[in-house]
Amino acid sequence: MKERTIEEINKKIENNEANIFTVREFKKLIKEDKTPSFEEVDVVTTGTCGVMSGTAAIFNFIVSEPGKFMRAKNIYLNGVPANVGPCPNEWLGSVDLILHGTAKSLENPFYGGGFLLKDLLEAKDIEVKVETIEGEIIESKTNINELIRGQLIGSRMAFKNYNSFTNPSDEAVSSIFGAIPLEGNFSTYTFSGCGDFNPIQNDPDLNIIKAGTKILLNGAEAYVLGEGTRSSQEKPNLMLSGNIKDMDSQYIGGFKTGEGGEVYDTVAIPIPVLNEEIYNNLLVVNEDIELGVMDIRGRHLPLSKTDYSKVWDAYDLRPKFIESDCINCDICRVEEICPTNAFNDKKLDLYRCFGCGICSHYCIGDSFNMNTGSLKLKIDDKVHNIPIVCRQSDLLRADKLSSHLKDLIENQEFKL
Ligand code: SF4
Ligand code: SF4
Repeated sequence: MKERTIEEINKKIENNEANIFTVREFKKLIKEDKTPSFEEVDVVTTGTCGVMSGTAAIFNFIVSEPGKFMRAKNIYLNGVPANVGPCPNEWLGSVDLILHGTAKSLENPFYGGGFLLKDLLEAKDIEVKVETIEGEIIESKTNINELIRGQLIGSRMAFKNYNSFTNPSDEAVSSIFGAIPLEGNFSTYTFSGCGDFNPIQNDPDLNIIKAGTKILLNGAEAYVLGEGTRSSQEKPNLMLSGNIKDMDSQYIGGFKTGEGGEVYDTVAIPIPVLNEEIYNNLLVVNEDIELGVMDIRGRHLPLSKTDYSKVWDAYDLRPKFIESDCINCDICRVEEICPTNAFNDKKLDLYRCFGCGICSHYCIGDSFNMNTGSLKLKIDDKVHNIPIVCRQSDLLRADKLSSHLKDLIENQEFKL
């Protein structure tokens, strides 16, 4: 059996002799029939980006001078409720709190924890309102520079397996699996997952990825705490944690769904090729990865199945806005439904864009150019050609962070 050690790989990195591929580069070579041999690959940097509901942040903020209140009862950041504690911090004027990425603003149904985390990382001022047990209200402002400590914890991240959804009924169905209600009669399809880019797809037995593995989470050096909640052998996922102050706002943010604001995160994990089993697992490609198609009503009724090559390969990752085609509707439909608020005042902000594809299907003037593809599925003896209207994962961000990880390893700024 061919083997090498981490020490041997690190020595090669120090000598600028290591063969490091991003997952995109590696899969491209496989698809072109130029698969590097075991001897020709030392590390593959994998990545994923998508809506990750289990995201939470633990913060400590100063909200007043010491001695002003005994204990906080409720706390709101830009109108988003957070949970006070676990440490009470009596009389100190600072508050420990836990913010859920899925927490919804009480003032704006489209604003929530994910949007707040992006605003914080963009160094915007955050309005803080504390209701104390003494019945007082304390209002202040803060920002990332005043944050004493912030730790992001994802309780179930980087899922290996997802399902995808269509709607066989006559009526549109609202869910967390679409920014807008999923229209019926097999006219819409939505999916999640980065296919063969996903870290666990490339290490399905978790030979490399385990408690203590160093990774990148939203651009920050972070760690695997262990397997995530609801992780199982068939559907593994990860619990991850990193320092929020080290994170990069481009990799995290809010995502509007039919059921309110969600949060997306980006994860990159290096896979050092230590033996042939690890190498063989890296040969997985989108065609090999099954994707169940479910009825959006109830979410567990299987209708059909497909694979990731049918939903990702050959389609556009970002839209183009053709301004001359815009018919200047009184109320812009795209501004209303873009899940990341990437379209405002007739300007497409590609930094905020997630590549979900919704604009290309719902712009009234058809002024967005983006091919997100469609899926041909035989269900109950009838063939349906179903347009892919919403992608809740972003291959471009996954690629960008895995490329960044490759650069850090090559520059010896991230040691395996
Ligand atoms: S693809 Fe369109 S709808 Fe989706 S995030 Fe980008 S601009 Fe918004
Ligand atoms: S919905 Fe489309 S056509 Fe209408 S204003 Fe918005 S971008 Fe322009």
